Amino acid sequence: MPYAAGQGVPLAHYRQHGAGVRLFCLDCLAHRDLPLEPVIERLKARGFGDERTGIKAVAGFVARPCPRCGGVRFETSPWFPPSPKGEGWTSPPKKDATPGRHDQSSAIESAEVGSPGCALANA
Ligand SMILES: [Zn+2]
Repeated sequence: MPYAAGQGVPLAHYRQHGAGVRLFCLDCLAHRDLPLEPVIERLKARGFGDERTGIKAVAGFVARPCPRCGGVRFETSPWFPPSPKGEGWTSPPKKDATPGRHDQSSAIESAEVGSPGCALANA
């Protein structure tokens, strides 16, 4: 068994995603996004765990009460920042009219521009 049940995915897993830890206050639902490495460093420094600690277990190690409501019950979940590489869904490139169609339409336009003159001359 790689980690204790109910503790969540080990923090080390989120390194490959460039993710962090989102800390929710269960009382007022305020949340704070924490970078992953400092969280791991703090767990190590205080002897609570390390990068193998499950992300959900981190909530149990929060020492300070919520700055907003003073609550001390927290929940932690992974936080994925928007990718700077632009991964994910992107719209396909817009299909422009073919060059041939462009030529055709400009040919029609010049014909139309020329026709009123012809009509006047004929009148
Ligand atoms: Zn709160």
